[in-house]
Amino acid sequence: MKVLPKKIDFLEVEEKWQKQWEEEAIHRYDWGDTSRPVYSVDTPPPYPSGDFHMGNVLNWTYFDMRARYKRMRGYNVLFPQGWDCHGLPTEVAVEKAKKIRKSDVPPDVFRRMCEEWIEQYIAKMKTAVQRLGCSIDWTTEYRTMQPEYLRKIQLSFLKLYEKDMIYKGEHPINWCPRCETAIADAEVEHDHRQGKIYTIPFQVPSGELLIATTRPVYLPACVALGVHPADKRYSKLIGRKARVPVSGQMVPIIGNDEVDPTFGTGAMMICTFGDKADVVAVARFNLPVVNLIDGKGVLLPVAGKYAGMRIQDGQKAMVKDMREAGLIREERNLDQEVGLCWRCDTPIEVVNARQWFMRTISLTEKVVETARRITWYPDWMRQRLIDWATGLDWDWVLSRQRVFATPVPAWYCKKCGKIRLARLEELPVDPKVTAIHDACECGSTEYVPDMDVMDTWFDSSLTCAIHAGWPDNPDWMRQFPASVHPSGQDIIRTWAYYLMVRHLALFDETPYDSVLINGMVLGADGRKMSKSLGNFVSTPEVFGKYGCDAPRQWAAAGGGTGTDIPFRWEDVEYGWRFMRKLWNACRFASMRLEDYDPAADAEPRLLDRWITSKLQTTIMKATEAMENCDFMNATETTRNFIWHTFCDDYLEAAKTRLYGDGDDKVAAQHTLYDTVASMLKLMAPITPHLTEEIWRTMYDPDTSINVSPWPQHDETRMDAEAEKTGDTVIAVISEIRREKNRAGVSLNAPLSRVEVYAPAEQLSRLKQGERDIMDTLKIEEFILREGQSGGLKVEGYPDIGFTLTV
Ligand SMILES: [Zn+2]
Ligand SMILES: [Zn+2]
Repeated sequence: MKVLPKKIDFLEVEEKWQKQWEEEAIHRYDWGDTSRPVYSVDTPPPYPSGDFHMGNVLNWTYFDMRARYKRMRGYNVLFPQGWDCHGLPTEVAVEKAKKIRKSDVPPDVFRRMCEEWIEQYIAKMKTAVQRLGCSIDWTTEYRTMQPEYLRKIQLSFLKLYEKDMIYKGEHPINWCPRCETAIADAEVEHDHRQGKIYTIPFQVPSGELLIATTRPVYLPACVALGVHPADKRYSKLIGRKARVPVSGQMVPIIGNDEVDPTFGTGAMMICTFGDKADVVAVARFNLPVVNLIDGKGVLLPVAGKYAGMRIQDGQKAMVKDMREAGLIREERNLDQEVGLCWRCDTPIEVVNARQWFMRTISLTEKVVETARRITWYPDWMRQRLIDWATGLDWDWVLSRQRVFATPVPAWYCKKCGKIRLARLEELPVDPKVTAIHDACECGSTEYVPDMDVMDTWFDSSLTCAIHAGWPDNPDWMRQFPASVHPSGQDIIRTWAYYLMVRHLALFDETPYDSVLINGMVLGADGRKMSKSLGNFVSTPEVFGKYGCDAPRQWAAAGGGTGTDIPFRWEDVEYGWRFMRKLWNACRFASMRLEDYDPAADAEPRLLDRWITSKLQTTIMKATEAMENCDFMNATETTRNFIWHTFCDDYLEAAKTRLYGDGDDKVAAQHTLYDTVASMLKLMAPITPHLTEEIWRTMYDPDTSINVSPWPQHDETRMDAEAEKTGDTVIAVISEIRREKNRAGVSLNAPLSRVEVYAPAEQLSRLKQGERDIMDTLKIEEFILREGQSGGLKVEGYPDIGFTLTV
């Protein structure tokens, strides 16, 4: 066996293996292999922001540990990587950087700007993923903006349309006036803002009816007043009409049991559309629709003298006029919940628009059923998906009025308006660029393109099928459903949900068998990590100082799976010290194993059986934890065994035998050889580089530890009696060593005499370890006596005492 060198540069070693693994192609998925079971990771393609932060370190470490563990369990692991390029974040970034708005340049020019922009960030992020040592199969790398990917997304659009799961319709939607696009419920962030509520008089036959509203600007779009039918103050007004102040239209007063009689004045104005309650009432009572704002959030002519103003300015102007006219009877502050665009924080408006939708509400029951059936790590995250799905009111609005995204593959007949969808052989297609000339049913051959693009989640919510090889690989079902979909707790409502509805609609099958959730990374002070709070730690800073195996240990052991975990330098430093400890212990082992002969035969001694039995328990516990994605316990169990049981106790006690000769030495060598091999394997998914360096030096220069079999615990090597006896012997050794230390005697100096007193049962145990105790502590005269001692006590063993003569 080769001896590990004394000097080791962990950072250099990490980069060496990252390069070599790629050359050896050990992380490649074998598409032709039908003999091994498949384990497929639905790596979520990230939006490349250019910033690979500690949160990314946490979740990539999770996926990677899972992939590495499964590889060692004999699975053919598919661990792909894509980049989610499209969508608003990139467009907004380009608009900001180039100081333009999307409409200032032709769409294809804007698209190219976005493509270039995102490439620089992909490069940065890829470097970071590689630096973290992720065992990704880079031959699978893809970008959602590539024509090949667009084709698959458009194909799925056509298939869903065919199944009547996609439709074009006019429906209220969330609208961001800044981004000038529809956005889905999942993209609306909710926040509290200080607003005002105004009490305004409406004219009714009996005089005045007061209404409290936060948005008088919506008065021109008021189509009814609602009162609760059981509210005695107003019930006699039901069926009569009211005159709306400012805009002057007459609207019906209707009984609506959804009105809360205790809110405001108890009467509600119903507009098209101030919020979702309006949408519900308009649909329920079949009220007319008045469009108040345009796509930029500017008031339309129906707003009278306020037309042409942005909605917030219109509100200010209208309130000022109403105050002067005495139309504001009361004005109070109100803590309001507002919906904001997830990307630009602009308050969203609910508007009526003709858009493309996917039928998702009709799938809710199936989503809930599937969410219940699959496995969640941790289990309690399941409810997040169920609550989100059951809380949705509207179908998923798919179309976006943007540029950098997958085009909707449709044209419309100029004459009759009939939809002409793209044919399969025409994909991928951008109807804005490619014209068609075939004849419509009406005889016309002129078409106008659909100008819309799709929600970026429509790109990324098909990854489970696309990673598996759909639609081109006839064997794609072998990789489907994905074995695990890893996700952040904050994107369950988007990623996990959209994947689910999309695949259920297309294939009537769950997209993933399990979901692995990671929490957020907090600053060391327990608050959200952010540059402005001064608790931000950048990944280059961490990688530059400690490489990746140490921060991977922080990610693995920093907290329970799914919970938020703080970034603590101490955890990384602890990981670093652990690596040093492991290296030194293995270096010692490699020196004592230089002349190791695997064929030599020798009966294991007590402490050999003791550590072997403890190792079996460790393997059992670590394996169970790894199976359940409980990375924290897998790491802690293994590290504790290595650091304390193996390094502090076993190696110290076995040293004399290892430096000696004969059967005693051979027995210790066998134990050392097996124990170190298993220890390294248990740590391999967590600290792949360091364990690889040791493995290839000591055990097998040609085969990576990452593809060697995971250790199995062996019940026949579990020995409760040996553990009990060994524990007693180790406790006595430790106590005497502490005493030696307290007495100021060097650990290597001999002790002339030690006398141990113990009851008969303990005595027989200690007899079995007599030699180990004497050798480890260099005791010249060692006497074991039955009985009580007035001397020193052994911690944890009150009936064992000893006296010691230096
Ligand atoms: Zn926006
Ligand atoms: Zn036509």
